[in-house]
Amino acid sequence: MKEFDYIVIGSGIAGLSFALKAATRGTVALVTKRRLADSNTAWAQGGVACVVSHEDSFELHIADTLTAGAGLCNEDAVRAIVTDGPARVRELMDLGMHFDERELGNGARELDLGREGGHSKRRVLHSHDTTGREIENTLVDRLREHPQIAILENHIAVDFLTTGKLGYAVENACVGVYVLDEKTGEVETLRSDVTVLATGGCGKVYLYTTNPDVATGDGLAMAWRAGASVANMEFIQFHPTCLFHPDAKSFLISEAVRGEGAVLRDAKGRRFMEKYHPLAELAPRDIVARAIDAEMKRSGEKCVYLDITHQPEEFITSRFPSIYETCRKFGFDMTTQPIPVVPAAHYQCGGVKTDLNGETSLRGLYAIGEVASTGLHGANRLASNSLLEGMVMAHRAFEKASRNRRARVDFVLPEWRPGQAGDVDEMVVIYHNWDEIRRLMWDYVGIVRTDKRLQRAAARLRNLHAEIQEFYWNFRVSTDLLELRNLVTTASLIVDCAISRKESRGLHFTLDYPEPDDAKFLHETVIRRT
Ligand SMILES: Cc1cc2nc3c(=O)[nH]c(=O)nc-3n(C[C@H](O)[C@H](O)[C@H](O)COP(=O)(O)OP(=O)(O)OC[C@H]3O[C@@H](n4cnc5c(N)ncnc54)[C@H](O)[C@@H]3O)c2cc1C
Repeated sequence: MKEFDYIVIGSGIAGLSFALKAATRGTVALVTKRRLADSNTAWAQGGVACVVSHEDSFELHIADTLTAGAGLCNEDAVRAIVTDGPARVRELMDLGMHFDERELGNGARELDLGREGGHSKRRVLHSHDTTGREIENTLVDRLREHPQIAILENHIAVDFLTTGKLGYAVENACVGVYVLDEKTGEVETLRSDVTVLATGGCGKVYLYTTNPDVATGDGLAMAWRAGASVANMEFIQFHPTCLFHPDAKSFLISEAVRGEGAVLRDAKGRRFMEKYHPLAELAPRDIVARAIDAEMKRSGEKCVYLDITHQPEEFITSRFPSIYETCRKFGFDMTTQPIPVVPAAHYQCGGVKTDLNGETSLRGLYAIGEVASTGLHGANRLASNSLLEGMVMAHRAFEKASRNRRARVDFVLPEWRPGQAGDVDEMVVIYHNWDEIRRLMWDYVGIVRTDKRLQRAAARLRNLHAEIQEFYWNFRVSTDLLELRNLVTTASLIVDCAISRKESRGLHFTLDYPEPDDAKFLHETVIRRT
């Protein structure tokens, strides 16, 4: 058993930000299941929404966030995260992050702010179209310099150790975590009174997603198994514009492209967004994604087209260098032709329920970043609010956790017992179940839902769950098997939350109840394992 003052699971913006702060107060274990930079954060293109211009105000950013959230945001959380933003952005810049600037004409420069759907002002700080990669690299560079941080790459967190499960009479609390070292195949026991979950989202639960392979809902499933409350998992954001090409795995065409005037066209070259919303292409993402879904279903076409050819070539290649290059690689020149796009699962608005300091309902366990449900997003996330949330909540959780620190109690934690388990004999079963979950979630629990489809999904997931549990108990754990186990749990939590919301609101749209029902459902969906 190895002991630390803080255990951080995940190395995206939230986990890295927390770890850097915590290392000024004590020892930190940073556990991450692949390499440090493998995270959703590294893929973020658009940028960080933050009030830094005198033409903008906190009240406007708060109002835009509340509007997107469709009545379910926690206004205190929105206010806290929006108003803490500038200080956290400044800290990030002090660590070496460079956001794009623009000339003012008189020789002076200011931050160049992008505009995205749902924002009433230009307020998105960016670094070309690779903002997330620049942030990730900045934080990773600082982290590697830190002597107090033990970096455990290729280590996947398996399950939490709680006093309840261990049979202690004290209040149930998280006291550590089992982690699998992928290289040795050994499961290690890490002990701490402060464990911070920063494992990001669950896009891989769907067949089509903008998320990288690490986004399998692990942290959410672990917290659920340990008895923490989970909220609002029915609200999955589908990004309207993912590049449509058989070989382009998960490549997102940032909303910022529409922010710079790109329009959506059907296969015949006709614009269609004006039919669906007065803001047309700049309508909130759920509306754009549903409109594209409806157009594709109506026409039978496999994609729609995003057209920014009216902008000068030089502007496109300097503002969107990475998108331009990637499209070129797949044979599309976005300066002269519209790009084929489809919607894909993008962001998990719900998650492990926390307060404004990142504390979950399980003492000793904090959750920050995409894995958490703070109340910022409500029923729909405003674009570029998530990197902001990750930084702000890392800071708030750090302040609370370091204030709360008490003398450590000497719990003796049991080592992992592999028993007689052997290696999985038929990997095909694992891959088959992976595919089946992702396809059934896409077909039955996607952008447009119905009671019947949700019930079908629930029935099939129950069977898959039983099958996968059997595997889990009978075979030696591996990353694939652990991810599959978490995937089925996460999928089930999405379905359970979706079934209980008999209305349409924000990102949850069902043909059976197409309108919002404030009288019955103007509240979060909170569930907990009993
Ligand atoms: C293509 C794309 C573009 C985006 N663009 C924007 C944008 O412009 N602006 C914006 O605000 N947001 C954007 N987002 C969303 C944003 O990137 C994420 O919400 C945010 O980065 C999440 O940060 P995080 O620290 O919570 O998690 P992540 O960055 O996803 O990091 C999670 C970490 O946890 C690790 N992990 C997971 N499970 C385990 C486990 N069991 N054990 C150990 N480690 C584990 C992962 O390996 C990873 O290191 C975008 C997302 C995508 C996919």
